[in-house]
Amino acid sequence: MVSHAREQLDRLLVSVPDFPEPGILFRDLAPVFADGDAFHAIVDDLASRFAGQFDAVAGVEARGFVLAAAVAYAASAGVLVVRKAGKLPGEVLRETYDLEYGSASLELEPDRLPVGSRVLVLDDVLATGGTLAASSRLIQRAGYSVVGFGVVLELGELDGRARLGDVPTYSIASL
Ligand code: AMP
Repeated sequence: MVSHAREQLDRLLVSVPDFPEPGILFRDLAPVFADGDAFHAIVDDLASRFAGQFDAVAGVEARGFVLAAAVAYAASAGVLVVRKAGKLPGEVLRETYDLEYGSASLELEPDRLPVGSRVLVLDDVLATGGTLAASSRLIQRAGYSVVGFGVVLELGELDGRARLGDVPTYSIASL
């Protein structure tokens, strides 16, 4: 049976050819986030898949923040922000990684949660898996455990989940 969240994605997802570079088919979830029923459905789907398994939710800048805040609120859990380089003050952990287009660095402030905290990591799209793999390394270096990865869309042909080891990885839809 097709889930309500999946139906909403099929209804609202916009695909933009050649953005931000020629050859990239950009999957724009902004129309899904902007629709109240659709946003509720995707947040509920992600939250219920990992219910009871996490103490905090990490969101990857920027669209992962939207999902992490909503899922964390629904579960009375805290939020960690995995940020692009140069946005966080003080001592930070940093990991550099490859994107489907280009490369980038992500940073995390240490010491925000008790050591051993169970963290669910959320982002909008899983492409090559570099972003979530780097986020996972940051979270583990901070002393926490990654209990799952959740995304709205997985670009299946890129096989990003192969880079995420045996941590449970859930996507609402795989294209
Ligand atoms: P990756 O590290 O290759 O798995 O890329 C995932 C990150 O890049 C996510 O934060 C996405 O927002 C973004 N991204 C990569 N490819 C796409 C795409 N085709 N459409 C939309 N976002 C993408």
